[in-house]
Amino acid sequence: MILISACLLGHRVRYDGGTNAHALLMKYHERGQFLAVCPECFALLPVPRPPMELAHTTGDALLAGRGRAFDRNGLEMTGYLCTGAQKVLKIAEAYEVKTAILKEGSPSCGVHRVHTGDFDGRKQQGMGVTAALLSSHGIRVYSEKDMTQELLEELLERDAESDRPF
Ligand code: SF4
Repeated sequence: MILISACLLGHRVRYDGGTNAHALLMKYHERGQFLAVCPECFALLPVPRPPMELAHTTGDALLAGRGRAFDRNGLEMTGYLCTGAQKVLKIAEAYEVKTAILKEGSPSCGVHRVHTGDFDGRKQQGMGVTAALLSSHGIRVYSEKDMTQELLEELLERDAESDRPF
């Protein structure tokens, strides 16, 4: 199975109650190889919820205890982000997931970039907390922005091969 941010598959789990439905991923959804997860929902955060950002840090630094995250109201969200990430990792391990495709820019799911923490739209290089945790456990993590039809078909083929019985 390939782990996917649920909002990319049209689930209404984004902070504002919307989705990030991604046409290419939606098209291949019916093959049954995608496992939809939303770390922030797994942390029991509501939909909608105030937006949150990593405060001038990245997911891997936060996991190492060198950073915090807050929502727009100033409420600390560090523990929620870590809880969501740990729950996604457990699911990934249970399904022997080797590949994840996650939503760019999210404090949980961002793969190449996350917001700076100033709530002004600016982004910095770095992973979100879930992406960093999965990556540190050997799971290949891609952003939806990395996806081309060719790459997605290659990932699906590799996934199908790893699921075939001996
Ligand atoms: S936590 Fe991830 S899956 Fe959930 S809404 Fe944010 S980007 Fe999408």
